[in-house]
Amino acid sequence: MQNDCIFCKIANGEIPSATLYEDEEFRVILDLGPASKGHALILPKKHAANLFELPDETAEKALIVAKRIAGVLKEGLHAEGLNLVQNNGAAAGQTVEHFHIHLIPRYQNDTVNVTWQPGELSEEEKGEILKLFR
Ligand code: AMP
Ligand code: ZN
Repeated sequence: MQNDCIFCKIANGEIPSATLYEDEEFRVILDLGPASKGHALILPKKHAANLFELPDETAEKALIVAKRIAGVLKEGLHAEGLNLVQNNGAAAGQTVEHFHIHLIPRYQNDTVNVTWQPGELSEEEKGEILKLFR
């Protein structure tokens, strides 16, 4: 647990939160500034700033928790879809430096925006990127 981290405090119950689910390793809470009805956050109890610092075992379990909570939210709130969003670094929109996964239920004609303008993949960039994995 990191002293100055608000999500450490929430995840470990030092600061109260609207908790949907809790186990030994995770707490799932309602986002205070929801993008849509049911917007929730999965917080590991052990501090990791972002995906790059997250232990493999926690990463594995986090997706299983996400799947379960997503199912309950979608069915219970009659959502028509759901986005998993996970930001890493300020450039990617991360504002709280404790790993978290957003669960954002989606409704027909809602005003949530998780889209981008399609770009173009150049041969040069494609080569550069593919080379990283060879
Ligand atoms: P991100 O931009 O991915 O770092 O997301 C941070 C999210 O945390 C935002 O959606 C905020 O609304 C939410 N948030 C910040 N502080 C709290 C808090 N005390 N309780 C619940 N959600 C929070
Ligand atoms: Zn933390």
